[in-house]
Amino acid sequence: MVSKCANPGCSTPFLYLHEGKLFRFEKGAGNGSAFGTDPNLRQPMRRIEFFWLCDRCAGRMTVVFEEGVGVTVLPLTRGRPAA
Ligand SMILES: [Zn+2]
Repeated sequence: MVSKCANPGCSTPFLYLHEGKLFRFEKGAGNGSAFGTDPNLRQPMRRIEFFWLCDRCAGRMTVVFEEGVGVTVLPLTRGRPAA
């Protein structure tokens, strides 16, 4: 679960749901055939991960899921021309 702001450069602790912005990402079960899996035990369950940005960071950045990279924090570039 979330314990602090997703921005690596920010250490604001996660205290209240109504503050900042919460992001939810569902990760597919993938092909976990590498493990010795018991088909009876292996449920098609998805892993849900939460990321939270504090009030201050939520106004300046966002959390996105990039294929092959994972979850990253990106600055909001709204209002600024893309270089
Ligand atoms: Zn923050």
